[in-house]
Amino acid sequence: MIKNLKQTIAQEARLEDVVQKYAELHRGSKSGKTLMCSCPFHKDDEKSFKIKVTDQTYECDVCKEAGDVVRLTQLLVGCNEGEALRLLVDWFHIPIDENGLEYLARKSKRKKEKEKSMFTAKHREKEFNMLLNSFTSNSCSSPLLAYAHQYLELGVAADILPDTYEQISGCKLFPVRDDSGSLQGFLKYVPEEKEEEEGFCIPADLRETNLLGLYQAIEAIKRCGFAYLVWNSKDLMIMHAAGFTNTVACCGPELTYRHIESLLKQTNQVVFMYPDEISKQVRATKAAARLSHLSVTPYRFPLPRKGLSSLYYKMEPARFEYFIRQSTRLNYLDAVNVRLIARLEEITKQLASVQVLEEKLQLRSELIQVRNKVDKLTGLLDRNWDYLYRYFG
Ligand SMILES: [Zn+2]
Repeated sequence: MIKNLKQTIAQEARLEDVVQKYAELHRGSKSGKTLMCSCPFHKDDEKSFKIKVTDQTYECDVCKEAGDVVRLTQLLVGCNEGEALRLLVDWFHIPIDENGLEYLARKSKRKKEKEKSMFTAKHREKEFNMLLNSFTSNSCSSPLLAYAHQYLELGVAADILPDTYEQISGCKLFPVRDDSGSLQGFLKYVPEEKEEEEGFCIPADLRETNLLGLYQAIEAIKRCGFAYLVWNSKDLMIMHAAGFTNTVACCGPELTYRHIESLLKQTNQVVFMYPDEISKQVRATKAAARLSHLSVTPYRFPLPRKGLSSLYYKMEPARFEYFIRQSTRLNYLDAVNVRLIARLEEITKQLASVQVLEEKLQLRSELIQVRNKVDKLTGLLDRNWDYLYRYFG
């Protein structure tokens, strides 16, 4: 029975149509009898995956993977033969009678449990690479997304994916890498207008260990000497689009010690940005506390309005960039000022207890110097913050 069914289905289902869900096809010969694309099973810049249109077979020059439309569907979707046949029936609207459908249903159920247990780390790595290879950038129509594609590898996942990744089919995704660049999973980008929370793909503990965009930002963090830390993938994209490629995002709901640990390997200067919303204040305060506990310099950066993205869309890109640069500078000076004020208090205390005249004179002269600096800096900061918020706020 399966043989007959398979024949009927393989006759109707076009191999090239299935491949097209995962990779961009190119002509491999003038006649168009051979098509080629990057192999969906590994990184491939050479278009090693060849399809013989007349035979309806494929073969990859590099990994030697070969077969027909049913095998390819099985591999791409990560299912057994029965399930692959059923999928093809659905995709190509192939007319199959009741008996045939029932048979396929039985056939696909039987092996499912066994295949789930095959889900090992190696298997996962293969699937992740396949997912990444299936990304298309042409759906990233807005300049912001195109930019994110370039720097953050943002892309749109294939329409049809293995069961375990079903929830991310057709979504915009960021690959999440660890600091050595190895692929850990994906994060779903949810556009501003949707209320939905940004979602993670397997594995679930990813959000607690990985900072989004860290691997891609390492070079820029080295160059700048500090990192921007933002709330979510939206803010991350905005910052990268504005040229602040030394930006990372904590992609979970909390900034964890594991996040901070991996950030500390790159820098101990962190500009910590958070939206100025009551609901987020608690998390922001916690995060700031964790950062300072670990000798990171958090410049708390309360953003006007609803955060970076609304700011970006309201301003011209150049004004946005100026705003971020200027507030970063002022935040840095704020931190310097706080240290100077602390020193001022220390000197005042010492003056009260010191008895030796010479020491007293020395402390007095330092007091005057520090006080002058604080006065100057405070005035400068007040004026500049005022100006910045009047102009942009
Ligand atoms: Zn291959």
